[in-house]
Amino acid sequence: MANIGYIQVVRHCNHFCGFCSNPTTPYTHNFESMRVLVDDFVARGYFGVILTGGEPTLHPELPDIARYATDQGLHVRMITNGWRLSDRAFAKALGEAGLRLVHVSVYSIKPEIEARLRGVEGTLERAYAAVDNAAEFGIDVNINCVINKLNADHLDLNIRHWIQHHPHIRHFVWNNLDPSMGRAEVNQDQFTPRLAEFELSLYRALRMLHKTGRTFRVEKVPLCYMTDFAWASTETRKIVKGEERIVHFLDAKQTVRQTDWEHIYSDACAVCSLREICGGLFDRGDAYDPAELHPVFIDRDAIVEQIIRDPADPSYALRSLAEWRVDFERRLAEARARPRRGPREHDAPPPEMRETLIPVGQITDRGQRLFQAKRRAESRKAEALGVNMEEMKEQGSAD
Ligand code: SF4
Repeated sequence: MANIGYIQVVRHCNHFCGFCSNPTTPYTHNFESMRVLVDDFVARGYFGVILTGGEPTLHPELPDIARYATDQGLHVRMITNGWRLSDRAFAKALGEAGLRLVHVSVYSIKPEIEARLRGVEGTLERAYAAVDNAAEFGIDVNINCVINKLNADHLDLNIRHWIQHHPHIRHFVWNNLDPSMGRAEVNQDQFTPRLAEFELSLYRALRMLHKTGRTFRVEKVPLCYMTDFAWASTETRKIVKGEERIVHFLDAKQTVRQTDWEHIYSDACAVCSLREICGGLFDRGDAYDPAELHPVFIDRDAIVEQIIRDPADPSYALRSLAEWRVDFERRLAEARARPRRGPREHDAPPPEMRETLIPVGQITDRGQRLFQAKRRAESRKAEALGVNMEEMKEQGSAD
């Protein structure tokens, strides 16, 4: 199994997205506090680590921790807005530190929409420079895109741009908006799309990528909204392969281990042929409407075969459908025997990890001061942009 873990290395950012689900907190990391998390992934036999944030390039020790994780044998990746990576020297340093793959996040190739979503002008040019710099220094590039109300109608236009102007980019990732945390939670009306709003443009985008031999993944989109490309659903792939994901949040949640990829289902799902391999409707935040779900009647096993026989993803050990069925039935039976956790319980460390939890980051006096200053500056920005600031949750106290 190719499990990949996440470490939020910082929680502040140089952009100000109105739907940020991981905004600034008083927690900070140093090399040592990140190192123990890397060591834990290695001990668990994880394939790789994704360094994320906030904006991870703002951590002064980012190249050091990338080098350390690489030296321990992990495949090191990073999710970034690309702002700092537009500096060639910085991209070179990360390439030399062993960074293998960077996900550069761009929401819209329309400058006015991107500026509105990012809260900062001039980010597109920087992102374009970032993807070219990364490629120059041997770092693979993926484009990440959060689906939201403002880009829902032109996901395909974005793809046309990438294919035409940056043809070296071969893999794309969409995340439907998570409306349950941070500023996304308090600005749902501005940014959370209806599924029907992006269905067509997502389909066109996926078809274009598929036709040109590129690959992609889509997260938090029910399979009835991506039926032709169901094998590309992140949740479906994880359900089929039985994968887990550990995220070390740099906030009061600390460590979350995700093994259950199912969200919620409506009555329509009961008769749907894809029910057992579908993640359903993302339920946290109560922003999506179960009435938008509709059953489909297509061959489940054909989708499973596309996943377990994917030559580009040899992470699933059992290669025949018959073996998979036995393995899957066993996992389903185990899952049914477990008490189902509510949506909010997913944000707590699972019972089996509580004994051995490693602290994620620390709250220092300096971190508190920086947090308060950042929050004041962001409040002014929020007012100018007409978005709400995230609610303050319990963040612990300074040591
Ligand atoms: S009807 Fe339900 S189970 Fe079927 S594809 Fe849609 S969300 Fe998934």
